[in-house]
Formats: sequence, C-alpha cells, structure tokens
Amino acid sequence: MNFISLHQSTWDNLQSQRGRLPHALLIIGQRGLGKFALAQAFAKSLLCEDPQEGSRSCGKCLACNWFEQGNHPDYRLLQPQALVDDPDAEEGKKKASQQITIDQVRGLDEFFNIGTHRAGLRIIVVNPADAMNRNTANALLKTLEEPAPGTLFLLVSNEPLRLLPTIRSRCQAIPVGVPPTAICEAALAQDGLAQAGRWLALAGGSPGVAMELAASGEGGWLELLTRRLAATGDLEPLGLAAELDKAVKESKGKLALKSVVEAMQKWLVDLTLASNGLPARYFLPQQATISRLADMIPPDRLVRAYRLLLARRREAEQPLNSRLFLEGLFMDYRGLLRN
Ligand SMILES: [Zn+2]
Repeated sequence: MNFISLHQSTWDNLQSQRGRLPHALLIIGQRGLGKFALAQAFAKSLLCEDPQEGSRSCGKCLACNWFEQGNHPDYRLLQPQALVDDPDAEEGKKKASQQITIDQVRGLDEFFNIGTHRAGLRIIVVNPADAMNRNTANALLKTLEEPAPGTLFLLVSNEPLRLLPTIRSRCQAIPVGVPPTAICEAALAQDGLAQAGRWLALAGGSPGVAMELAASGEGGWLELLTRRLAATGDLEPLGLAAELDKAVKESKGKLALKSVVEAMQKWLVDLTLASNGLPARYFLPQQATISRLADMIPPDRLVRAYRLLLARRREAEQPLNSRLFLEGLFMDYRGLLRN
C-alpha cells in the first residue's frame, strides 16, 4: 500500500520541515494508519541522493539501495525485538521483548561517535516510542537533550500520552489523521481486500486495522462475537467467554482482550446510533439486526453499558484472569437485553 498517497497532507507537512529540520519529530495517530511506513519513507527521502517529484526517494541511488537492504550506515531503527522476530516462530523459544531495551538506546552512542557517511544527516526511527520503560525512556531523553549535530529522531506512537512529558516536549508533533474513506477503500481494494468498505468501517477508517480484521474475518473470533451479539434470543455469556478465551490463547498474543472490548464498544456505538434513528458506523452488514436490537433496549441502559465498557477497557490491559474478564464483559451485555 502506498501510504504517502493516503496521507498526502501529512507527507507535505513532513517535507516542509526539510530545509530546517528539528531534532525530533513525533508522529502520532491511531493504530494502523501507516505512521511507521511514513516515518521510514520520510527518512529514506531525506537520505536519498536524488529525490524525485514531491520529494519522494528515487529508489535507485546508492543510499536508497542501502536503505532498502536495511544497512544504510546513517540510519538506525529502534524497535522491540518482538516486532523484528517472526511472530509465528517456533514455540518454546524465549519470548521476545515487547519493549525497546536500554541497551538498544545506549547502542546509539557508538552511532553518534562515528562520522556520517553521505549527506551529513543521521536518522533514528523509534517505533513505537511508547514501548520503553522509565529507565530506557530517560536514556533516550538524555540523547534528545544533547543531540549530536545533524541528527533527526523520528518517534512513532499510537499512545503519545504514555511517553515521558519531557520527551514529548522535545519533539515537534506531526499528527496523522484518518485518510479519506474513498481513497483508502480504493487502495485496500487494489491490494486485493474483498469488501474493503465493510472492513474499513469496522476499523474506524484505519487501513492497517481493516486488514487485520479482514484476516480474522470468516470463521474467526470477530465473526463469532458478532453472531452472538446479534442473536436477539438469550446470550449465553459463559459459553461465549469460553470460546473467546480459547481464541485469545490460541492467537499467541495476536488477539488482545482489549480488541474484544473495542469491538464491543463499536457495537454499542452502533446500537446507540440506531436508537437515535441513525445508520451504523462500524457494523455495516448487521445494520438491520442492530436496529432491531436497539428497539428492545431503553436508551439510558446504553449509556450505562458504555460507561461500564470504558472501565473494562482499562482493565483489559492487565486482567488477572482472561476467562473471568470475558465472562464479566458478556454478562454486562446480557444485562442490557434483559427486562
Ligand atoms: Zn535515492
């Protein structure tokens, strides 16, 4: 997918920094928008020796070649080992770190101590910048406070509020918005995604999340959940919790509990819209069922249920027991439909 075309105004915003680069940019926006791809494309375009129209990298020069091979000497990428490893790697292997380590940050010292090879610019992409514990973040902060000349940090984050405020304040923020639906839908369809509009709606406009949801689509957890939520008869919370708990465990970290809560939140938003006579925003194919359900639920219950879900969303980060958590979640939902 061409993320530059999806985010043309952000790209122009980034390129407008070219002549007077700050020390650090913080690229923020919701998950799955392609922020990391944008950061890399920007880094590549800055290092390129023959930038093309719109300041895009040429893809042909020596620097572009190095970049594509992952060995440009003036470029470093800091990311958790878990993002580097194949997530489907064999079992029994030590679990890769979900965090950027302090050694990775300290390793930059060596990078700063040698001269740059080409353009006189050093670029470090940190993805995601919120995947750092306090010590690591402080080590990074030190580098940001005393930047080596000609150094650009590109920090990427879905959750910038998790960053140290002192790191945030050293960076210039570059917000990345949801791309225009029509352009995004066309790009997804071109990449071979069937029913792109449906998945994009469910993903709240984020193309990366749309692809993830579609991949878990037919026969996956989301289909199961949607089918059960749509049943106007009695929902069996314990049974559904057991099935989803199994899906979470078998996904080996790919399906997080918070994704289940997020799907429930979207379902509730659609119910609330329907009870106000408005069309669904997320679950387009289930529009008719959602309208029917909304007619059965008193509106004040919807408000209360949404508040409960917000609390569950926080709890989902570190549940003591995923099965119990899911049971509570679906019992709340059943309470919504009962007289
Ligand atoms: Zn080039």
